[in-house]
Amino acid sequence: MPNLFEKQDILNLSEQKLTDWFKTNKIALYHLKQIKKWIYIQNSKSFYEMTDISKKVRELLEKNFRIGSLEKSKIRKSKDGSKKYLFKLEDSNLIESVLIPEKDHYTLCISSQAGCAQRCRFCQTAKLGFIRNLSKAEIISQILDIKTDLKKKQQLTNIVFMGMGEPLANLSNVISALNTITDSNTGLGFSKRRVTVSTCGIASNLKKFAQNTEARLAVSLNAADNKTRDMLMPINKKYPIETLIYACKNYPLKSRDRITFEYVLLKNINDSEKDAIKLIKLLNGVKGKVNLIPFNKYLQSEFEASEPGTILQFQKILSDNNITAIIRNSKGSDISAACGQLAVSSSAETGRNTLL
Ligand code: SAH
Repeated sequence: MPNLFEKQDILNLSEQKLTDWFKTNKIALYHLKQIKKWIYIQNSKSFYEMTDISKKVRELLEKNFRIGSLEKSKIRKSKDGSKKYLFKLEDSNLIESVLIPEKDHYTLCISSQAGCAQRCRFCQTAKLGFIRNLSKAEIISQILDIKTDLKKKQQLTNIVFMGMGEPLANLSNVISALNTITDSNTGLGFSKRRVTVSTCGIASNLKKFAQNTEARLAVSLNAADNKTRDMLMPINKKYPIETLIYACKNYPLKSRDRITFEYVLLKNINDSEKDAIKLIKLLNGVKGKVNLIPFNKYLQSEFEASEPGTILQFQKILSDNNITAIIRNSKGSDISAACGQLAVSSSAETGRNTLL
């Protein structure tokens, strides 16, 4: 028996590599399409199930590849119906994904890295530090492995890269994953308009991102002046607000599309009327809308959430100035599954990733 981990995860292979392998092994290329349908539509985990493919080819595939999946280490359910999945990777590192019920569909929030290097001061995941990038297979498997838990009528239609990690710091794997996620022919078939990648603002990678995917872009702005943003998000020292906004103004968007700017409201830090006015000026000429996110407080956080009245007032100032601003209450805060709370909490229950 070959060691399971010696075989390559077929989910990691590019179209080109797979095609080359098929050619080398003299297997007709139409089988490739069949295999992908089995994997992405039927959620197959074994080549032996692929009954429309000859036994000989199935055996060869089984001998050379595996169809990766992630170990569901723990699932926690929130009062509001959202579910947090803790996945254990093959090297025992842990990542999290959150399944969020909406009115008539589900949204899945996935991770792009184990840990995160960005050190945003208000974010709980940041406290883990950076562990490693996720492979294409590990990104895609979060979707495949959670989809199997859903009943037929429960539709998973939206994917957001707002879990652990900074997607634009793992750009090539994220782009490969996105291409499979939005491939309607032989991939997972999600609508490009329903897949959103959120970045802390790695301005230099926006162009490459836009050139390689049509997924939607969200930018975590969180402050409208450099002094506040420098303090909250160290990435701002590398790409200050002007550089980031310039990149956003030049970001190629289809006529109906807009960039979403996320703005976490922190009491007495970035939630004053002055801050709202600065934000309006900053977004002048940018095709964007604003998601206002009430801060999810956690143990040992140095920040407080803004008062509900302050949040409404902030929203009103933006709306009065023709900026679409939606208040996005995160779900799952009782199970630490809300925005920025995807940090692993107890070494005893989870293994290697530990929050201090
Ligand atoms: N690295 C990416 C994606 C992960 S964070 C990014 O920075 O966009 C996803 C969103 O959650 C970001 O907009 C971030 O600002 C927000 N966030 C982080 N911690 C939060 C918290 N404790 N409460 C509310 N929102 C938070």
